[in-house]
Amino acid sequence: MSDTTPDQGWSELLLALPEFILTDANIDENDELVADVELPRGLQPCTSCGVIGLHPLHDWRSHTVRHLPVAGRATRLVWRKRLLTCLEGCGTFVERTASIAPSAVWSRAAERAAVAASQANIPIDTIRKEFGVGWNTVMRAVLAAAQQVAQVRPRRVGIDETVMTTGRLTTRRRQFLTALVCLDTSLVVAVTQGRDRGSAAALLADHAPDAKVVACDLFSGFKSAADTLEDAVVVADVFHLVRLGLTALDEVRRRRQQQIHGHRGHRDDPLFRLRRVLRVGQERLGDDVVARIFDRLREADTDDEVAAAWVAVDLLRRMYQAPDRDTAHRRLVAFYEWAVTVDVPEITRMATTIDTWQDEVLAFFDTRASNAPTESANVKIKSIRRAARGFRNCDNYRARILLHAGQPRSLPNTSRIRSYRFTTAA
Ligand SMILES: [Zn+2]
Repeated sequence: MSDTTPDQGWSELLLALPEFILTDANIDENDELVADVELPRGLQPCTSCGVIGLHPLHDWRSHTVRHLPVAGRATRLVWRKRLLTCLEGCGTFVERTASIAPSAVWSRAAERAAVAASQANIPIDTIRKEFGVGWNTVMRAVLAAAQQVAQVRPRRVGIDETVMTTGRLTTRRRQFLTALVCLDTSLVVAVTQGRDRGSAAALLADHAPDAKVVACDLFSGFKSAADTLEDAVVVADVFHLVRLGLTALDEVRRRRQQQIHGHRGHRDDPLFRLRRVLRVGQERLGDDVVARIFDRLREADTDDEVAAAWVAVDLLRRMYQAPDRDTAHRRLVAFYEWAVTVDVPEITRMATTIDTWQDEVLAFFDTRASNAPTESANVKIKSIRRAARGFRNCDNYRARILLHAGQPRSLPNTSRIRSYRFTTAA
C-alpha cells in the first residue's frame, strides 16, 4: 500500500472505511460527529461501458450517509464525490465504492451493525433511533440478511406452535406460527403461518424432506403431517406426556376438593396444601416422605382418588426411566392396568389419550428424541415477540426469528485486559 496517505489511515482506524480519506471532522450542534471523506483520485470503471480508467473530473457532488457511532457519538459521513466524464464519451457518472452503496442512506458497515443488533434481539425501533435512519431502512436490511441465513437439511426435527399477536387487539383473534427446529443444533430451520396439518406438512416437505425423526407434542395435526414423510419416526414428547399426567392429577385433586369441602382449595385444606409436593416425582422424594404423603392423602381423601392419580403419574414417570423399549412397554401396560383398576374418570381419559399415542410414546426409546430443543427455540421466538411488542407482519417476524434463532450465535471475541483472580478463602 505505497500510495496510502496518513489521512487514509485515520479513516480506516477511526471510521472503519479503508478506502476513504478523512479530510475533516467536526462536532455539530446536536453533538454528532460529521466526518468529511473522499476517495483518493484513482481508476474507476464507467457505469455505462465499464471501461476502467482515470476518467477526467467534471464536477463534485456531496452524499451524506449515516455511519457507525464513533466513540459512542452518532456519526454522519459527508462524502465528496467526483462526477467523472467517461473517456469513451458515454457521458458523466459518479464514483462508486464497496463501502457505501449508490444513493444509500447509511454505510454498509452501519447496515451490518444494525443486522447484528437485530440478531441479538434488539427491536428495529431501537436500532433505527441509534442509527438515525428510517424503520423501513432497518427492516429491509434485516429481511435481506434473513434470506442469507444458511439453509440446513436436518435429520432430526421438532415441530411446535407459537402465538403471533396480530396487534388488532379489539378483534382478539390470535394467529399462530409453526416452527421447525433441528433437534441436533436447537436452531430454527423454518417458520410458517398457521398451526394446522397442512402448514406443518408443507413445512416438513420443504425444509426437512429427509428427516428420520420428528418430535412433537400431543397434537394429531403434527402427527399426521409427520406421517406424510417417508420413513420418519414420530416421537411424542416426554415432557408433554408427563404434563398431561400432572394436569389429570390436578383435575382429580380439584374435583375431590369440591366434593369434600364444597369450595375451592383454601390455605388450610389438606389437599390444597399437598398440591405442590404432588407435582414432584416420587423418585426425588425419600421413602419416608412418600409414605407420609400417602398417609395424608388417605386422611384428606378417603376415596383414595387423588392417591390413585398420584400413583398413575408415578407409573408414567417410571415408564420413561425404562432402559429399553420392552421394559417401557411392560411398564406402560402396568399403567393401563392401574387405570382400569382404579377407574377414576380423569385417569381413564389420560390413559385413552396415551393409548392412541402409544407407538409415538414408545418411539422415544428407539430414538431418545425429545422436544426440549424445540421448546428452547420457542423461548427465543417468544422473546423476539416480547421485545417487539407483537407482530402484525408474519414475514417480518419470520426474518427476525431466523436471524436470532436460526443461526449459531457469534459471540464477540475480545481479549481481557484484567486477568481473573481467584480469591482465597480465609
Ligand atoms: Zn463509458
